[in-house]
Amino acid sequence: MAIMKFKRNPREIKIHSILIVIISLGFIFLANYLIMPSIGNQNPVLQIPHEKIKEIDIVEMPFVSSHQNKLTTVKAELLRGSNLNDLLLSYGIDRDTASSVVYEISPYVNLRGLKAGEIFDLNFVNEEFTSLSLNKSNNLIVEVVRDAYTENGFRAFEKERELSTYIKQVSGKIEDSLYNAALDAGMSANVLMDLIMLLSFDVDFQRDIQVGDTFNVAFETIFDEKGELVEDGKIIAAQMLTDGREIEFFYYKDLHGKSDYFNTDGQTIRKTLLKTPINGAYITSGYGMRRSPITGFTRKHQGIDFGAPRGTPIYASGDGVIESAYYSQVYGNFIEVRHVNGFRTLYGHMTNYARGMRKGVRVRQGQIIGYVGSTGMSTGPHLHYEVSYWGTKVNPSSVKSPPGRTLEGEDRVLFENLYKSYIASFL
Ligand SMILES: [Zn+2]
Repeated sequence: MAIMKFKRNPREIKIHSILIVIISLGFIFLANYLIMPSIGNQNPVLQIPHEKIKEIDIVEMPFVSSHQNKLTTVKAELLRGSNLNDLLLSYGIDRDTASSVVYEISPYVNLRGLKAGEIFDLNFVNEEFTSLSLNKSNNLIVEVVRDAYTENGFRAFEKERELSTYIKQVSGKIEDSLYNAALDAGMSANVLMDLIMLLSFDVDFQRDIQVGDTFNVAFETIFDEKGELVEDGKIIAAQMLTDGREIEFFYYKDLHGKSDYFNTDGQTIRKTLLKTPINGAYITSGYGMRRSPITGFTRKHQGIDFGAPRGTPIYASGDGVIESAYYSQVYGNFIEVRHVNGFRTLYGHMTNYARGMRKGVRVRQGQIIGYVGSTGMSTGPHLHYEVSYWGTKVNPSSVKSPPGRTLEGEDRVLFENLYKSYIASFL
């Protein structure tokens, strides 16, 4: 009986031992905190077995993620023949949401006018679609966001983009062509075209630009609020070192708010006529010289030839009116432009004319009037360029323009400080 008295049923023993374990764990816990706080984490007794860590991790995950929402932005490109609705569906957005977004955005964006390649930023929080944004222009952004107070749960609005302008400076050395050197240096095609045009007032790209020439160019880069490049802005400063000659020009806005490019003498670099009436980027150094024996102005050859690949754009050398534009046996497809001050310019051997170029049409300096070809009496693709002054053919490279605007007084002082700081920063 006595034995029986002390005998407990197995269930009781189990509860008892569990209690003992809990109490002793409690003591160890307290000891850990109160007695050995500094080495508590190293106490082997309290090391949690690996399986438990996994369990705890799983339990705690929802708690962690509810405080750290996963934000994702997807750059979704509109494909050819597709539309915004299809695009949204293709990113797993449900039909109702997609149609609400399309409905809300339509007063702000001409959806039918969207072109393939248009980029929409789709924002997701924990994989749930929350908003969309589209760069409507360089200044405006359109957004569609969730809004619980509207009927379909979305709201669209337009806002100004917060753009910031930074100056980027690049430098390089011509190995084969200015075009390759400029792009290698990090210049965009747009900046390069501006550079070519501004240099074209002073530089004969075919004869002046040589392998080994170096350049420094500072230009604006415009970024949006997300730190993405929106576009390159204007050139601020440029320097070209060619055959011991320095060609430099700098952007300056005068005290009356009028802006232009000036050389270090404070004179505007703009001239009546361009020295290179062709997109000089495509001229490879020495190209024309090797190809054509007649490259310079002589009594027999009263023009200058610019060797360039077929299709290279040809620019109107100055403002004027087209006087002739037809095919001739000698010049092939040619254009003659009448300018102010008694100048006329002629462009021969074009492969074709730019759209709308015909007699009587007014052209601006630098406007594309046609493309390099080899029509008429020509041995290969090149531009034959002639300049005449009151009816007499003159050497295009010797044409002197009347002095343009010159900065004076306080503007001159401010400009000098500005350009010197740029030159100091050049390599
Ligand atoms: Zn010629």
